Amino acid sequence: MPVLDSFIAGLPKAELHVHHVGSASPRIVAELAARHPDSPVPTNPESLADFFTFRDFAHFVEVYLSVVDLIRDAEDVRLLTYEVARDMARQNIRYAELTVTPYSSTRRGIPDTAFVEAIEDARKSAESELGVVLRWCFDIPGEAGLEAAEETARIACDLRPEGLVSFGLGGPETGVPRPQFKPYFDRAIAAGLHSVPHAGETTGPQTIWDALVELRAERIGHGTSATRDPKLLAHLAEHRIPLEVCPTSNLATRAVADLEQHPVKEMVAAGVLVTINSDDPPMFGTDLNTEYGVAARLLELDAQGVAALAKNAVDASFLDPAGKAALRAEIDTYTAAWRG
Ligand SMILES: [Zn+2]
Repeated sequence: MPVLDSFIAGLPKAELHVHHVGSASPRIVAELAARHPDSPVPTNPESLADFFTFRDFAHFVEVYLSVVDLIRDAEDVRLLTYEVARDMARQNIRYAELTVTPYSSTRRGIPDTAFVEAIEDARKSAESELGVVLRWCFDIPGEAGLEAAEETARIACDLRPEGLVSFGLGGPETGVPRPQFKPYFDRAIAAGLHSVPHAGETTGPQTIWDALVELRAERIGHGTSATRDPKLLAHLAEHRIPLEVCPTSNLATRAVADLEQHPVKEMVAAGVLVTINSDDPPMFGTDLNTEYGVAARLLELDAQGVAALAKNAVDASFLDPAGKAALRAEIDTYTAAWRG
């Protein structure tokens, strides 16, 4: 293992843009599939590896939906959540804001209270047993429209689980204008949640402006097209609005043609607070450590630079000040020991 990769592997990290179902690794999918033998998803490791080999975006959607189909009761939700935390612990991820889509489960018949209890139960076990602190971003699946927005806002505001910190919006951007979701974000913000919509991943800078102006975004999911608008880049830098950059995901979905053309370098040069994330890691054949390796290469970073990038994620997180200070100190101690 090259030296920088081993530094990254041991580095304590925070992740801010990673999806719940999208984090189901082959190991987790095998466990879920074993609970539901009628599912077409293979359970043996070899066929599963093939099932997970990324071919194109349509294949990603197919895999994603097959995994969604395996989450049929509260125990599946609890198992998925806890096992995702186990995969995080292995990568030395100490804190993660996991994007959860309650609507996908409630519309499939899992009662909202059972869903919330399952993720909260997994969160508490993950923290005490694995040392991974999880927080939730409940997101609207944009393609499901206003009905999904209403349901997501209702669950977020009425049930308000202890681990919930933010409100998001995912799914396709084309044909799903951001401003229509304003009333739901207004409700979530009034209830004390932070606004973190996806924007500018597959559409232009106007979507990011809409997220900022209409949805009062405090961080932007992806924001890949921000570099096409110098005024927007300057605005993001000036107001310290972080971008959640997910390089391999952008390549897999063709948001960027190749990694060398990824705009992350321009974002950093413009003074924007950039965080590195994995999005739907097993489905894109990656993990957070791999993404840090990609970023280190694109940004030409040494260990100190990678540690600074890890601290960006801590700063951009919704951890309380004491939690931020503790994680920053952990990063510093690790980096100092590694250099010594
Ligand atoms: Zn995402």
